[in-house]
Amino acid sequence: MNSPFSTEISRHPLADFGWDDDWAVAFAPYAAQGFVPGRVVRVDRGQCDLVTPEGPVRADTEFVTPHDPLRVICTGDWAVVDPDGADPRYVRTYLPRRTSFVRSTSSKRSEGQILAANVDHAVIAVSLAAELDLGRIERFLALAWESGAQPVVVLTKADLVPDAATTAHLVSDVETAAPGVQVLAVSAEQGHGIDVLGALLDGTSVLLGQSGAGKSTLANALLGADVMHVQAVRDVDGKGRHTTTTRNLLVLPTGGVLIDTPGLRGVGLFDAEAGVGQVFSEIEALAEGCRFHDCAHDAEPGCAVLAALDDGTLPPRRLDSYRKLLRENRRLAARTDARLRDEMRRVWKARGAEGRAAMEAKRGRLG
Ligand code: GDP
Ligand code: ZN
Repeated sequence: MNSPFSTEISRHPLADFGWDDDWAVAFAPYAAQGFVPGRVVRVDRGQCDLVTPEGPVRADTEFVTPHDPLRVICTGDWAVVDPDGADPRYVRTYLPRRTSFVRSTSSKRSEGQILAANVDHAVIAVSLAAELDLGRIERFLALAWESGAQPVVVLTKADLVPDAATTAHLVSDVETAAPGVQVLAVSAEQGHGIDVLGALLDGTSVLLGQSGAGKSTLANALLGADVMHVQAVRDVDGKGRHTTTTRNLLVLPTGGVLIDTPGLRGVGLFDAEAGVGQVFSEIEALAEGCRFHDCAHDAEPGCAVLAALDDGTLPPRRLDSYRKLLRENRRLAARTDARLRDEMRRVWKARGAEGRAAMEAKRGRLG
């Protein structure tokens, strides 16, 4: 009998989770060996939760937990898993990542930390209830570009803006800070703009933004269900409180998935020099026209950037912000280098002490 869902049946069971033809091609050699594909929902205590064509699977991550923290399997990865019946089931490897969100850790370890893999869209939530901070938006954009994902800026709580003309102004202000990026005003409260955003978000998306920016509310609106448990505002500064359920990979009714992990939520500055270049692409393009290729755009003759400042095509705020983010990045990179040096020194010292102890032990045995 013809099922009304017959068109659905031919879809890959993981299509809702971001599986596409390119993943199928990358997986083909493993499929030939009987392995099963799975998308990583979360990783904890040496195991991970996966969605597979057979349903949820918990598998051992021993083989995909190398010393390099950037190569440790993480949420969003496409895993190559042992077939049903193996006990325990191991993740054997994972498919090469298309994009990755990395945080350079601010303490202890000098290496970065992988937060999410294979993200297509980075939704940067910015509240219209507070004054716009373009510098902060630019910073989030740098993080997004650096990951390889396509950013989109979503101005939330548009219902709190008195009129449409003001909203349009705010959108165009943000557009000047976000070349190559779509800027949308939405109201999750009133359901405005949610359908437009939902239609944009195919593949895999993440929500970035400050606490209180409206991420949980937006996620609920996109998901069409109260998955995130937004709690009403209690504190005077207007920040909402939320508790996120254990599921980190949520299927959107409009297609695609949303990755929401605590690590990504709290993400701040990390080394994103290439990302910074993309946020300020118009400045980098202008710099191509400077007489000196190492022009610092300070007082050099024939500086195209300064000329654009003079004729008003480049707002001074943009150049300031560009410089500030580059400086911050370099400071961070220098700190990381210093940490690396310290770590090496400690390792050598420890080895030296071990060597001395061994020598003394030997001498003791001989004497
Ligand atoms: P998160 O910390 O980024 O996840 O932000 P929340 O989603 O918890 O939202 C913070 C606060 O803003 C909550 O009190 C929400 O009710 C409120 N909020 C979120 N979206 C809207 C909106 O579209 N309109 C209005 N008026 N308030 C909103
Ligand atoms: Zn210049």
